[in-house]
Amino acid sequence: MGRVSTPHGEFPTPAFMPVGTKAAVKGLTTIQLLELKTSVVLANTYHLYLRPGSDLIRRLGGLHRFMNWNGPILTDSGGYQVFSLSDLRKVTPEGVRFKSHLDGSEHQFTPELSMAVQRDLGADLVMVLDDCPHYPIAEEDVKRSLEITHQWAERCRRSELSPGQALLGIVQGSTYPQLREASAKTLAEIGFDGYAIGGLSLGESRELKTEMVDAAIQNLPEEKIHYLMGVGTPQEILSAVSQGIDLFDCVLPTRNARNGYLFTSLGPIVIKQSKYRDDANPVDPNCDCDVCKNYSRAYLRHLFISGEMNSAILNTYHNVHFYLRWMEKIRESIANNTFEELRNAVSSC
Ligand SMILES: [Zn+2]
Repeated sequence: MGRVSTPHGEFPTPAFMPVGTKAAVKGLTTIQLLELKTSVVLANTYHLYLRPGSDLIRRLGGLHRFMNWNGPILTDSGGYQVFSLSDLRKVTPEGVRFKSHLDGSEHQFTPELSMAVQRDLGADLVMVLDDCPHYPIAEEDVKRSLEITHQWAERCRRSELSPGQALLGIVQGSTYPQLREASAKTLAEIGFDGYAIGGLSLGESRELKTEMVDAAIQNLPEEKIHYLMGVGTPQEILSAVSQGIDLFDCVLPTRNARNGYLFTSLGPIVIKQSKYRDDANPVDPNCDCDVCKNYSRAYLRHLFISGEMNSAILNTYHNVHFYLRWMEKIRESIANNTFEELRNAVSSC
């Protein structure tokens, strides 16, 4: 716990990164992100490499200038997107070959290329290229995959980065605790500025996920940042913080907003439901965001039903506000020594 310093400012942890895959958090301008007191955003190497191209972004002054965001940025390495989006993925010790989901063109990511792309983009926190196995998968296959992930991690560590860029290793190992443990130890030996836990939230149970986080985190340097990739609901975040996780990203607040699913202090609401048709109340009576201060559930339902663009914008604004205030609440509870009370309050509702 504490603070993370980057060339574009520092931020307190535990922190949540709104997902700005293609150099934009869907539904929010960077001015709105500032209004919401966003401290760090995530962008994606795979997407930006394919379009508009990382050399173009470099020539235009780097990702911060390109998207008009002067705060910290983390870029994912592209490993996970190659796994989840592209066709014909072929992993060899050299790298991973894949076909673009945009136009079918063939590409190869190597650890060196992923680092070069992330250097061009100029993010503050950059991720190693990893092999993200599908789930479920046999232990022997995970072992083979891990060997490659660890070799790639070493090659990323040896690659040149821009001054100030911090490199995070990624622990893999599917749902095998002994492999998660071994992966964490190997990465800690190589030595990174921070450590991520990847390859979870792929359909495994919550209990297994918790066990894997424990197996990894107990073998990682305590003083370095710990990032749990792609997690999760507000409750999952709270529980992972109790395990020692400092950094999170997830598409839930933004994607769910576009589907009319809103997080509130009283539980989630689905705004299209007819019971909100003439509901003059704000989305969340306990929320002080501009959406809740100014608009009724009835209006937001109307926007959603009518397919208005403002539906996605206002819903996203509220959901991201909800997540960021949730992180603030967690940080305050840690500072005030009331974290356990917060956990108990949440688990009992
Ligand atoms: Zn609100």
